[in-house]
Amino acid sequence: MSTIQRSLAIIKPDAVAKGVMGQIITRIEQAGLKILAVRLIHMAHDEAAGFYAVHRERAFFASLCTFMTQGPCLTMVLEGENAIQRWRDLMGATDFRKAAPKTIRADFASSIEANAVHGSDSPESAAIEIPYFFSALEIHPR
Ligand code: ADP
Ligand code: MG
Repeated sequence: MSTIQRSLAIIKPDAVAKGVMGQIITRIEQAGLKILAVRLIHMAHDEAAGFYAVHRERAFFASLCTFMTQGPCLTMVLEGENAIQRWRDLMGATDFRKAAPKTIRADFASSIEANAVHGSDSPESAAIEIPYFFSALEIHPR
């Protein structure tokens, strides 16, 4: 059964600062995921807090919002067969010390917080996260 999905992806400020945007985009393209939209943004604190609202009760929430606003990040919409899980497989585990070898987090994360990338965790999350950053006119199916 074909399940074409979309995922929000973010190259977080730590990875942008390290200069590995291109390497991460290459992995996305080599995996056969299509990039339908892309924008470099520098989030304000309220924008990061809104994006991560599901985590607002967590002990790391304030620190996470500060981290996400420390510099620009690259937001993207990815599309493909089973795209949500495939992108998370490329990312690796949240904690880079537990991430499988050759995953993006194993290769580029600096800490459990500064872990290089974000990916939607379900179709329901993707449906909220994609329009948080992109209007329909900015998404280019092909
Ligand atoms: P994921 O990004 O893998 O979906 P979560 O949704 O659980 O992970 O957490 C969102 C983000 O919050 C993580 O990517 C990471 O940047 C940060 N984070 C998660 N857990 C911790 C933690 N224990 N300490 C600090 N930051 C954390
Ligand atoms: Mg998550």
